[in-house]
Amino acid sequence: MSILVLGGAGYIGSHMVDRLVENGASVIVVDNLVTGHRAAINPAAKFYQGDVRNATFLNKVFDQETISAVVHFAAFSIVPESMAKPLKYFDNNTGGMITLLEVMQAHDVKQIVFSSTAATYGTPERIPIKETDPQVPINPYGASKLMMEHIMHWADVAYGIKFVALRYFNVAGAKPDGSIGEDHGPETHLVPIILQVAQGKRDELKLFGDDYQTPDGTNVRDYVHVLDLADAHILALKYLAAGNDSNAFNLGSSTGFSNRQMLAAAREVTGQPIPAVIAPRRPGDPDSLVAASDKARQVLGWQPKYDDVNDIIKTAWAWTQKHPNGYDDRQ
Ligand code: NAD
Repeated sequence: MSILVLGGAGYIGSHMVDRLVENGASVIVVDNLVTGHRAAINPAAKFYQGDVRNATFLNKVFDQETISAVVHFAAFSIVPESMAKPLKYFDNNTGGMITLLEVMQAHDVKQIVFSSTAATYGTPERIPIKETDPQVPINPYGASKLMMEHIMHWADVAYGIKFVALRYFNVAGAKPDGSIGEDHGPETHLVPIILQVAQGKRDELKLFGDDYQTPDGTNVRDYVHVLDLADAHILALKYLAAGNDSNAFNLGSSTGFSNRQMLAAAREVTGQPIPAVIAPRRPGDPDSLVAASDKARQVLGWQPKYDDVNDIIKTAWAWTQKHPNGYDDRQ
């Protein structure tokens, strides 16, 4: 029996594939490489290049392989792009989920672990955010992911396909040996952007607003290491394999760090000055986003190992130094 990882050539998916292979699992990767990298996939995994929305292709993969469970990372995830091109997001993310569940149902595969997001909560009413808090997304990306959660719920009711929705907060870091890491084009995440300034690829870091309701005025976010995240997915697979019911969990460190704190940590780790300027606020940035992730700890037995942002940044810096141009595969 194999685990099928959709989006296994992406940033988080490639770390998940690597972790599964290390644990001795048989792993199948499906990815259309729209944002992923062929070189990121652990060579022990079997790779099918293709699109999740292509039912003919996906049925063929399920016909050829014996799949016990699916881990679904394949999606678009850039919030401002989703505001400009909402249909692109509903087509790929939400549409892809419908095709996937149809194929899973046809092949009697009844377990899925899904990449959801803090963006499904929108602007939180309180911090830390609990799984039971209202999900009111404020952008098409968050809406597309919330719709995917709802679709999985109704597929569970009708067909008994059990799911775990993992709502990630800010994912960062890399495999500590620097062999795989984060390489998005364009890059929109704070840690790799700060490190691009440290590398001299950007002149300065823009801090978007310093008058938020936070201790130092800059936005506060919750950072979770990509390997801790991968471990949570492995626990979620075990949870489903044990016959448990569908469920949703936040994945964060439960500790918030401001953009200024992240910058200070990156200056310390890299030894670089990393110039920064204050820029105007961006629309739609909540003051703070911090997860209550005690449910994942209690129910799944999740124990994140990276609770220090310096350590998270150190691993990202190891990847950046080893791969100054990322996977270097853009046309
Ligand atoms: P990524 O872009 O690096 O990875 C996504 C992968 O899916 C890529 O390899 C891409 O080629 C593939 N893909 C996309 N659409 C596809 C399709 N239709 N068919 C086949 N392959 C397809 O993104 P990431 O940062 O690794 O994020 C992975 C998942 O986690 C996404 O679903 C994202 O919404 C979610 N998430 C990420 C973060 C974060 O901080 N990075 C936070 C919350 C949620």
